[in-house]
Parts: sequence; C-alpha cells; structure tokens
Amino acid sequence: MDFEFTKEQKDIAKAAREFALGEFVEKAEEFDREESFDDSIMKRAAELGFLGIFLDERYGGAGLGVFEQCILQEEFAAVDLGMSVATLTPVFGSEIIQKFGTEEQKLRYLPSLTSGDAIMGCALTEPDAGSDLASAAATAVREGDELVINGSKIFITNGTRADFLICFVVTDPDNPGKHRRHSIVIVETDRPGFEANKLRGKLGIRASDTAEISFNNVRVPRSNIVGEQGNGFAEAMYLFNLNRIAIAAQGVGLARAALEESIKHVKKRMAFGAPLAAYQAIQFKIADIFTLMQAGRNMVYDAAWRIDQGRIDHRLVAAAKAFCGQMAVKCADMALQMHGGYGYLAEYRVQRIYRDAKIIEIYEGTTEIEKIIVAKSLLA
Ligand SMILES: Cc1cc2nc3c(=O)[nH]c(=O)nc-3n(C[C@H](O)[C@H](O)[C@H](O)COP(=O)(O)OP(=O)(O)OC[C@H]3O[C@@H](n4cnc5c(N)ncnc54)[C@H](O)[C@@H]3O)c2cc1C
Repeated sequence: MDFEFTKEQKDIAKAAREFALGEFVEKAEEFDREESFDDSIMKRAAELGFLGIFLDERYGGAGLGVFEQCILQEEFAAVDLGMSVATLTPVFGSEIIQKFGTEEQKLRYLPSLTSGDAIMGCALTEPDAGSDLASAAATAVREGDELVINGSKIFITNGTRADFLICFVVTDPDNPGKHRRHSIVIVETDRPGFEANKLRGKLGIRASDTAEISFNNVRVPRSNIVGEQGNGFAEAMYLFNLNRIAIAAQGVGLARAALEESIKHVKKRMAFGAPLAAYQAIQFKIADIFTLMQAGRNMVYDAAWRIDQGRIDHRLVAAAKAFCGQMAVKCADMALQMHGGYGYLAEYRVQRIYRDAKIIEIYEGTTEIEKIIVAKSLLA
C-alpha cells in the first residue's frame, strides 16, 4: 500500500490549486453576492483539461479516474466551493452517457463538454421526489419514433445554463418493479416546451446555477434514451456512486479552507495580550479540524481508489459522503467560532465557507440517506 500521490496526481493537484487561486479568489465574493458565474472561467478550465478528466481520451477527456476527479474537487473546493461547483458541474452526468450511451451519443455529446463548448445537467429530483427518487413522476410517453415528456424537476444544477440535460423519467409505468419504471433520456434545452427558471436566494454555493424545470409536451427522438429502457434507476445509482465520492472530496476541500482561514486569523488576532493561537481551546479546534479533514480525506481516497480498481464498495462511498458532509459542517462551524464576530460578516471568507458547507450534507443523497445505505448493508 502506497499513500503517496503519483507524479501525475501531484501535477494535477498543483495545477488545480494554481488555477483555482488564479481564477476564483478575486471573484468569489462577487459571484456569491450576485448569484452568478462567468462561463469564461469554465472555458479556461476546459482548456487546461480539468473538465471530464474521468472521460475517455476519445471524447476529449484525460482518461483518468474518479481518484483524480476527487483531487480536483478538493483543490477547487479548498479555494471556493461555489466557484468549484460552477466550474466542474458542466460535465455532471456525462458518466452515464460514457457508461451506458451508444457510440453515436458519446461522440455527439461528450467532446463538446470536455472542450467547454457545451454544458450539461442532470435532472433527477422532483418537487415531490427527492430522497425517494423511485417516486419521480415526470413521464416520457412513446409516440412513434418520439418520446413526449411532461412533468417538472427541481434543484437542477446548471438548469438555466445547460445545452442538454439527462432526465430521469417514467417510461414503463406498468412495470411491477418500482426500480424498472424509469429511463434516462437526453433532452436538449432548446426544444419547444422546455422551461427553466433560476432559483435565487440559496444559502451557499451561490455562484452555481440551480433551477426548476418544466417539460410541457417536449418531444425528443426515442434514440435519446441512454442505455436500456427501464434501466434508469440503476443508471442513476451508478452516477450517484461516482459523484458522491467527489462530493465527499468537496467536503475535504472545504474543511481545508476552514483550516487555512482559521490558522491565518488566530495567529493575527490578539486577545488578553496574546494571539488567539496561544490558547489551548483554540489549538484544540485547529487540531480537530485537521484530524477530521484527514479522516475524511482517507475515506475519500480509499473509496475512490476502489472505484477505479473496478471494485466499487457502496458502503464505503456512502459512509465517506455521510462523514464528509457532517465533517465539513462541523469544521466550518469551528472556524467561524474562532473568528468571533468577524466571522459573522460577509467580508470575511469564513462566512461563505460556513454557508457553503451545508450543501455537502444535502445534495447527491442526504446524510440520512447515506447512513441508511450503510446500516442496511451492515444489517443485511
Ligand atoms: C443546491 C442544490 C443543487 C442540487 N443539484 C441537483 C441536481 O443537479 N440534480 C438533481 O437531480 N438534484 C439536485 N439537487 C437535489 C438534491 O439531491 C435533493 O435536494 C436531495 O436529494 C434531498 O431531496 P429533497 O430535497 O427532496 O429532501 P427530502 O427527500 O424531502 O428529505 C427531507 C429530509 O428528510 C430526510 N429523509 C428522507 N427520507 C428519509 C428516510 N427514509 N429516513 C430518514 N430520513 C429521511 C432527508 O434526509 C432530509 O433530511 C440539488 C439540491 C440542491 C439544494
């Protein structure tokens, strides 16, 4: 067992860190306040090969693994989580096309993502079906060679920016198996009947676009189904496993940001005649953040490495996602506490870290859902 990064992994981490420092730092506060993002940053990330590094080289990716994607996620999130999400999610869902799509679909959709010319999103969640994804009710009804899509989705990352979405829709309502009723269908967002509205006022990751979406008799060719009809739930779970570990890596990055910001502050801020760093109650918080972050990182590396070896362990992925979500929230809380009243102000970066942290516990499966997965597998 070797705990060292390879030279290539070290280079990726260094390049990602430099990119994020160069592109995110100056703009992060403004994009957070304005709830906006500049797509040219995403394009520059694409030029440097950061978009879809897990995609095959045939489609413009780097042919690397989930592990390298986790390195990227940590490095970007350590600088700013909102900008990291906005920069890296334009390829969110491409894993499904690469794994289950036809060669024609892969060649049509993937290269434009890795080059930064197109943005995609992944529309699974509905107003009445979040954690209970199998209850999603949007329908795709066959008419000749077409599918007619109706229904709505909510909280869709890149909903108003995307050129196309992969959508989780009911195609086989009469199938007795609850997990065999849905399919994944590609929907281009310029099709008549498609509507997306930006959701404003998020607590955190405000640079990232989140939208509610409606499909009103949206017609797509039947050939837009990705993979086998009725296999949508399994395809969504495949995506979740890859992405959950990347989200856990975001939590590690966020904890690192909390640590870096706290160390700077406690060395500078004086109280009772000494810097805060001189007091053990402060030192314990610094040590706790480091320890929690390192524990989370080891869980991420372990689970990601297994995925890349083709030996995915759902329990480890779920445990890492649950741990890193709670860990990120706790570390952000300790960091803000060490900043005292200043941490409560928008002009202090730690306030944004604190607000951004919570999403790690919610998207791609809440902490509770991840714990249910872990417990079920232990109790089976
Ligand atoms: C900023 C943001 C971006 C997102 N991006 C996307 C995206 O790109 N695509 C997409 O499809 N979705 C996206 N989501 C949706 C996200 O995945 C869901 O919000 C999440 O899965 C939870 O679903 P829900 O909000 O419906 O909560 P609910 O399912 O209503 O859950 C509410 C609470 O009840 C708990 N709960 C639910 N069931 C159980 C149970 N059986 N036992 C115990 N507790 C339970 C949950 O853990 C949670 O605490 C995004 C959400 C946000 C906020």
